Amino acid sequence: MNRFENKVVIVTGAGSGLGQAASLQLASENAKLVLVDLSLEGLKETEEKVLAISSNTEVLLVKANVADEEAVKGYVDATVEKYGKIDAFFNNAGIEGKQNLTEDFGTDEFEKVVSINLNGVFYGMKHVLKVMKDQGTGSIVNTASVGGIRGVGNQSGYAASKHGVVGLTRNSAVEYGEFGVSIKAIAPGAIMTPMVEGSLRQIGGDDWESAGKEFVKGNPMRRFGKPEEVGYLVAFLLSKQADFINGVVVPIDGGQSYKY
Ligand code: NAD
Repeated sequence: MNRFENKVVIVTGAGSGLGQAASLQLASENAKLVLVDLSLEGLKETEEKVLAISSNTEVLLVKANVADEEAVKGYVDATVEKYGKIDAFFNNAGIEGKQNLTEDFGTDEFEKVVSINLNGVFYGMKHVLKVMKDQGTGSIVNTASVGGIRGVGNQSGYAASKHGVVGLTRNSAVEYGEFGVSIKAIAPGAIMTPMVEGSLRQIGGDDWESAGKEFVKGNPMRRFGKPEEVGYLVAFLLSKQADFINGVVVPIDGGQSYKY
């Protein structure tokens, strides 16, 4: 497939996990990429993998903290300066935070998780939507979570921020449809990335792999999702093929969120 020929796509959290997997799928379809992350090391790793797939892919790396609005404006301005437009935006960077009961969660931890997962997504939408509205075209995929559509437990900051991402998605989708821009969210279940390894280490310590085996017994498909499976979904949702899909939250979780 070649759905991203001459298309400019920004990916945040591109240095690892789901952002990296989506970047590789987009590169395989000839996108011009702007890869954003806090970790320059992660960005360089993704760039290397992108160039291994397609050596003439145009890539701009931007080290930025999505919780800092000036830095977000910076990656949007850098994109427009280099490429003159933004066709698609995977607004994905996020963290889990330390797991704890609500009373023990900690105000600082709550504010940290919300500032990255929710404020960061809002800043990204705010600055990218201005460009897309002027263009009269564009698509955005925000990363929510199963934790954004149901209660998971021990994740006050994560749950609040991801439910917030769902709300932002629905609100802006209603506003920007008339300007030719579609906005959707994905709600991944447990996909095996460094974040999920970190989460399992919080549960099982060094024996996190056993904790993982126990964890997936509750999934209808009895396994973790693979980052590339999320990459395929994101590429479809960002492509012109998905233009009339607007305001939805698409679970990718093996059916987990439908299970009682
Ligand atoms: P990951 O830890 O592998 O990758 C996240 C990337 O985001 C890292 O490269 C990290 O450096 C970057 N990042 C973190 N904070 C940042 C900041 N302030 N500014 C810029 N970059 C920052 O995690 P992942 O599993 O790929 O998660 C990606 C997104 O998917 C997150 O929003 C996460 O909440 C969401 N998600 C993941 C899962 C899963 O099972 N993996 C499930 C549901 C939702």
